[in-house]
Amino acid sequence: MSKILTPDEIRAAARHIYELVPEIIPTEINRTLVSEWAEKNRTLTEGPFQGPFTFEYTPYLVEIADSLSPSCEEVREVAFMKPARIGATVSVGENWIGATIDAFPCDMGYITSDGAMAEIQMQTRIDALINESGIAHKIGETKKRAGQKKSGDKTVLKQFPSGSLLAGGPNSSFFKRSVGFKFLNVTEVDGFADDIGKEGDPIGLFRRRCGAFQNDYKILWESSPKLDHNSKIKRLYNEGDKRKFFVPCKHCGHEQFLKWGDKDKPGGLKFEKDDDDRLIEGSVYYECEECGGHWTNSDKDYFLKRGYWKATAVPRKPHVRSYHINALYSPIGFVSWETGVMEFLEIKHNGFPALEFQVWVNTFLGEPFEDRGERPKIEAVMSRKKDYHVDTLPEWADPLFLTLGADVQKDRIECEIVAWCKDFESFSINYHVIPGEAKNINDECWDKLKQIIEAEHCGMKISLSGIDSGYETNTVYSFCDSFARGVYPVMGSEQRTKDREVIKFFTIQGFNCPRVDINTVRLKDDLYMNLAKGMREDGSFPAGYMHFPIEYDRKYFNMLTAENVVFDQKTKKKKYIAGSRRNESTDTRVYNSSLVHAYRQAIEDQLKAEEKMEEDERLVFDNFWLYIKAKK
Ligand SMILES: [Zn+2]
Repeated sequence: MSKILTPDEIRAAARHIYELVPEIIPTEINRTLVSEWAEKNRTLTEGPFQGPFTFEYTPYLVEIADSLSPSCEEVREVAFMKPARIGATVSVGENWIGATIDAFPCDMGYITSDGAMAEIQMQTRIDALINESGIAHKIGETKKRAGQKKSGDKTVLKQFPSGSLLAGGPNSSFFKRSVGFKFLNVTEVDGFADDIGKEGDPIGLFRRRCGAFQNDYKILWESSPKLDHNSKIKRLYNEGDKRKFFVPCKHCGHEQFLKWGDKDKPGGLKFEKDDDDRLIEGSVYYECEECGGHWTNSDKDYFLKRGYWKATAVPRKPHVRSYHINALYSPIGFVSWETGVMEFLEIKHNGFPALEFQVWVNTFLGEPFEDRGERPKIEAVMSRKKDYHVDTLPEWADPLFLTLGADVQKDRIECEIVAWCKDFESFSINYHVIPGEAKNINDECWDKLKQIIEAEHCGMKISLSGIDSGYETNTVYSFCDSFARGVYPVMGSEQRTKDREVIKFFTIQGFNCPRVDINTVRLKDDLYMNLAKGMREDGSFPAGYMHFPIEYDRKYFNMLTAENVVFDQKTKKKKYIAGSRRNESTDTRVYNSSLVHAYRQAIEDQLKAEEKMEEDERLVFDNFWLYIKAKK
């Protein structure tokens, strides 16, 4: 049995679809509901609920399945943002496939994370569905060669009277060609790449595949969400009417949707733990947001069957219905509230490692994950004690040298002056925004920046300045070259600064000053790690502690905490993204800290040139601080 369709077979499938177009335009809408079909025809032989299929345990899935029935004429697309383990795949997507083959046949596409997974799903789940629903006789053509499957019964292509089911991944060639489908069952859409080759956005691509059926196409988008900033299922959910499943309180009857909750706020899931993050047995309950009454996991029998979906938004696209649910609704016998809490406590106990925490948020809460763990909370940063004014330093400070980092924008230059102490403890001295046309070297803004660089601050001269050269590269090179020394163009470059190297000097042709290429990811790691540090109990400050003057406002700290760390699916590396948030003060601070590393490198190079250090030696930071202090 061949697993991969040959081009001829794909063409045959395509021809088959075109030939059938006139036949499958219905003269009368089929009134069969997906849920009715499933309960009448399907038997489960695997999983926790074997026997005749029933929605008794998962009543919240009935409406979702039924909105995929042709008779639900107002719905063209269903977006279901879901956790794992609530029975969605079996009860919604698979039942829709079975009902389509049997009751309202048409050409259906079934797209899952990739081609190999599509084959596995077809050979296991879909073959089982077909065999367990009494519809196997409909699959394939009558001509059958001995010892072979019927020719209309391929692993990824099932043909049946007046329709077909073609399965693949988002990159499968037949989804990229102008093959049309009336129904599309798209699963795990958050696992798809943001761009599918020349076709671009996968959501747009699959919508185009249904273009011939404007008035009666159906698409099911079903997925657990992944990362917040590029979640496709969240985007689709937001296009629809955002339905949530409301259930009544057994005490007061108040209807509410289940949420994880917050230990300091009324309502939601409550539990107690010991000092070692172990769940205290019998302490888990759900608290009604209205009366404060307690529910237990076994009350799911009561409230699930009394629940209903309620839209919580006006849809942005009127024909898109969207649903979100979390695993607190998981039926008795699937995932209990106790299990969810224990999973959470395990992650908490391990210090919320980002990847594990993400999996739990995605598959238990069914929510996209925003990696807040590495982004310092602005309130925490702002609430620290501040005890000096701009352009001053507290008396007890012991600064070793000053740096200036400047971020160049089209219509302004923003710069920060930082005083550095031993072990990277730092004091921000001032933050300037200098308006002007940055591309013009003769503009006033460059004069003003020069004045700041050459002036004394807190009785000290600036030792090194770094000017962002990623935007107005040549203007910045010329500006830096106009200084005898100490002013460098800075360029973010993960490629040139390999691995754990933080900076690298780079000779620019035609200019005397070297450029400082910087590893921005590494420097932002340091920045966010240092921002999260607090004062010690004895009133001293840890290495890397950052001090700020009283005048710095929320806007400054918003920019300093703007970026989220994410895992780039393409490069398999982590990166920082600011999204639409302003981040200039992050950049100026990153340039400033890169200059500390540049300073260490420059001193090391100088000591080697003077033959005071061996070529293979390295000036470690402990000695660097001592060296600067001695020189001061
Ligand atoms: Zn209540």
